[in-house]
Amino acid sequence: MAQKNFAVLLLGANLGDKIKMFADVETHITDHIGNCIKKSAIYSSEAWGFESNDLFYNQVLIVETEYSAHDTLLRCQAIENKCGRVRHENAGYESRTIDIDILYFNNDIIDAEDLTIPHPLLHKRKFALVPLCEVLPEYIHPILLVSNQNLLANCDDNSTVQVVSEAK
Ligand code: AMP
Repeated sequence: MAQKNFAVLLLGANLGDKIKMFADVETHITDHIGNCIKKSAIYSSEAWGFESNDLFYNQVLIVETEYSAHDTLLRCQAIENKCGRVRHENAGYESRTIDIDILYFNNDIIDAEDLTIPHPLLHKRKFALVPLCEVLPEYIHPILLVSNQNLLANCDDNSTVQVVSEAK
């Protein structure tokens, strides 16, 4: 029996039909990574770190997977590519049809060239913490050693993060 891992994924998009995109991406995740056992509502927020007229949408999924963290990253990137994301070298933050970040993977701490877990910016971004707290409020960040709820309560980011579509 393959080992069961728990990957906490953050979907982000600010172009096109974002709600349909999230539904399509969830289907690809189920087919290529594993079953989604819990998901947050979809939230909107202002673009973070760059100017854009389009609101950002975000959603957190908890996915049960037999793949390693690295294989999960490669599979997330394949889904991003299939769903139309075009990366620009050194562009920093940019508009994108879809972005998939791994926030947590089990209780693992990974510091590799291409993969950092827990995601190094998650505790600074309300657009990650608000949906995360909906699905995993009590989970303890394995490096900072405080709960997601606590991270949100102490987060300096004062942007507005609102529900646009309840979890179905
Ligand atoms: P982004 O443009 O935000 O999708 O960042 C993608 C880059 O971040 C890729 O080159 C990944 O290898 C790297 N990366 C490092 N840690 C993570 C993580 N926890 N989740 C997703 N991408 C990551």
